[in-house]
Amino acid sequence: MPDESGATWIPNQNSFPNRNGYKPHWIILHGTAGGSSAAAIANYFKSTQGGNNPTSSHYVVGRDGEIVQCNSEKDGAWANGYISGTSGASGNGAGNGHHDSWWDGGINPNLLTIAIEHVKPSTDNSDHLTDAQKQASFTLISHICARWGIPARKADAHGGITGHYSIDPVNRARCPGPYPWDELFAFLQDGGDALVLNIEQTGKHFVETVRNERWHCQQTGFDIAYAILAYYRSCTHVGLNGLSQYGLPISNEQRVDGTQQAIIQRFERGCILYDPQHEVDRVSGISGPCYPAHIDKAPGEDPRIAQLQEELAKYRPPDPPKTDMPQPPPKTSAWSTLLATFKSRMGERS
Ligand SMILES: [Zn+2]
Repeated sequence: MPDESGATWIPNQNSFPNRNGYKPHWIILHGTAGGSSAAAIANYFKSTQGGNNPTSSHYVVGRDGEIVQCNSEKDGAWANGYISGTSGASGNGAGNGHHDSWWDGGINPNLLTIAIEHVKPSTDNSDHLTDAQKQASFTLISHICARWGIPARKADAHGGITGHYSIDPVNRARCPGPYPWDELFAFLQDGGDALVLNIEQTGKHFVETVRNERWHCQQTGFDIAYAILAYYRSCTHVGLNGLSQYGLPISNEQRVDGTQQAIIQRFERGCILYDPQHEVDRVSGISGPCYPAHIDKAPGEDPRIAQLQEELAKYRPPDPPKTDMPQPPPKTSAWSTLLATFKSRMGERS
């Protein structure tokens, strides 16, 4: 099953299961130096299984923006293991003969990285990305950073994003070739496509019982799943997304009476509706299948609202004091002065 929603899944076995216990800290970008579509490259990887030179990449991004996933992110891909050149700073991929010194720890880089191929038909990787390919690449990178807590910036010894040249500056100095690095880092600095809440960030509260599909809340005993989970994980760009906004689940999913499909789930701080046909709320501008329910009318109705309204009624401003003192005459308002000036300028008697 792909980690990236919307990705085409063309898996192969050219991987290190569970990364031998390591976690990814870097994203490595590549260019394919040939080929025409992401699916064709993924099928090529698959065809190398069991051969003399099996190879892969977690993802391939096509010229048309299609994303194909070939290995699970929890596994290492056989993508960029060979370290060449002398230890130093690789710079910006000009092939200066130095690999970045943080690869010197003796750990196979494939265990520490997630690899993304970009389809480039030229054998020297001189093609620039298409607009669709660039958008898909940026979005994918921001999602991977969020899923694994990878620093969303240029790579350094703590993690981040760089090219294949960082590892193999001798044979892969032109991998990925031209890439809009500055634009990528500006995009990521802006918050990327969406900060997707991941199980690593919420491990204190949830355990993931079905990968990316179902989380079980250990404190309250309720699950969040499928569309409501996807919404919860990405519903805002604030803090820990759904966890900050809604708190923990305090009910199971329940069908909404009188609808075909709508489902509601209550959280500590509000209710999330799954209502793909917009049977419950037809307010224009709601585009997704999930949204927060109204708290002052069914089905998200909160009984405390009535009490709140009573409380608010007590704070109605007091009536002005009654007095027999003569009131000052009303002052000429700024507006009537302006209107008089305008009329006199226009030659009209006011
Ligand atoms: Zn490469």
